[in-house]
Amino acid sequence: MKSVTAARARHFASDNYAGICPEAFAAMVEANRGHEVSYGDDSWTQKASDLLREVFETPCEVFFVFNGTSANSLALASLCQSYHSILCHEGAHVETSECGAPEFFANGTKVLLLPGAQGKVNVDAIAQAVNKRTDIHYPKPRVLSLTQGTEVGTVYSLAELNTLAEAARRYQLRIHMDGARFANAVASLGVSPKEVTWQAGVDVLCFGGTKNGLAVGEAVVFFNPELAREFDYRCKQGGQLASKMRFLSAPWVGLLQDGAWLRHAAHSNAMARRLEAALRGVPGVEIAYPVQTNSVFARLPEPVIEGLHARGWRFYTHVGGWEESRLMCSWDTTPEDVDAFAADLRELAMAAGGATC
Ligand SMILES: *Cc1c(COP(=O)(O)O)cnc(C)c1O
Repeated sequence: MKSVTAARARHFASDNYAGICPEAFAAMVEANRGHEVSYGDDSWTQKASDLLREVFETPCEVFFVFNGTSANSLALASLCQSYHSILCHEGAHVETSECGAPEFFANGTKVLLLPGAQGKVNVDAIAQAVNKRTDIHYPKPRVLSLTQGTEVGTVYSLAELNTLAEAARRYQLRIHMDGARFANAVASLGVSPKEVTWQAGVDVLCFGGTKNGLAVGEAVVFFNPELAREFDYRCKQGGQLASKMRFLSAPWVGLLQDGAWLRHAAHSNAMARRLEAALRGVPGVEIAYPVQTNSVFARLPEPVIEGLHARGWRFYTHVGGWEESRLMCSWDTTPEDVDAFAADLRELAMAAGGATC
């Protein structure tokens, strides 16, 4: 057995293991020339917001915050009162990975969990949750939170989104979209951003920058301007108003101005598809979900997991409560990375499977 990977720079643990993409880094350097106005009243923040309005082809309200947990929590809090409830998939990041921040920032709003195949909620589950109780003793469902792309690397199709939007309208639910990997979803679907957001009834999108190649930062994009009222105060109170805002917003300019956000997303998606192709047919390995964005969820034999870890490869085996190993590609994952990982995996699987394979 060769041991080539102990000191490898790139892993498959998370897209936040990756560094800063060149476009974002160049914008940071540019933003670092001289003084600028603080707290978001600067030209970079204006430009980044305008670029987002161009991307979505609508006059949306934009706020830049430090991370996804705060983006989701503050956005959700702005959609409901404390006596409301938020419906989301049982595996949603807002439920499994935010330490109760949505409930905390919304002052106790209850998160209600929906089942659903492939990490996605469906109309039946929504109807069941909404109709289960309609009395005053139950927290009133007010928000549907969707993750696009999902926690398990799938995407909601345009048709699925429109069906969900129709249900949301029927039940008077506002729609929040956790778009930590929104870029990957858009690249995967090949749609225009507006089709899968405001035209599909999304009220607020938490648009992920970090996993797409920024050092730090997410954009909270309100398509319903009324809901954005006083969101600046919410950000400030929540510790999310950056005084040197330009360093949160300038990288977005780098990412958005020539389409790097979509190029990087398409690339990481392609790397996941390459990995999936290399893993299919390997004895003992099962691909768990359709590979539609930048992750491959696979059931791997225990000795293979141990062997890969021993060779220095990093990846998660139970992230967010999901059972499978999650292999995540990033904007900087190379075909060579994928091939080297897959070769190690195949070798270990063959050794674990014995001569019959
Ligand atoms: C990474 C991620 C987030 C944001 O996480 P933070 O660590 O708070 O930045 C939100 N939603 C999903 C689905 C994610 O994968």
